[in-house]
Amino acid sequence: MIIVCPACSAKNRVPEEKLTESPSCGQCHHELLPQAPIELNEQNFSHFIANSDLPVFIDLWAEWCGPCKMMAPHFAQVSKQNPKVIFAKINTEESPRLSSAFNVRSIPTLVLMNKTSELARISGALRATELQQWLDQQLSAHS
Ligand SMILES: [Zn+2]
Repeated sequence: MIIVCPACSAKNRVPEEKLTESPSCGQCHHELLPQAPIELNEQNFSHFIANSDLPVFIDLWAEWCGPCKMMAPHFAQVSKQNPKVIFAKINTEESPRLSSAFNVRSIPTLVLMNKTSELARISGALRATELQQWLDQQLSAHS
């Protein structure tokens, strides 16, 4: 499987059975799957999404958004429970073009992607159990 390094964007080949053994980047030694949300932005988004072989679950948020802040620890918690999904955050104010490419109407908006295709999205703040439930439903619907 190809995993794109969240720190240096190098493509790393990782055998599927090693995904849960905290693989690190061959180039910069950063953790490839940190079990915490990574940051995507206009610079790294296209390369990351096009080259990652794992589904990417994206939280589109903003600094001024109360519900986004409320959801952040829940999103981080759920990221630890799903080693085969990459959790990512996009700050909509720092990446306005990405935000409009996603046609974001309200935040937080959560988008589940597999490569460049959007599998599903949901808007509004969810708690950890709701996030996990929604994610499970979408993953099983698209597997
Ligand atoms: Zn790296």
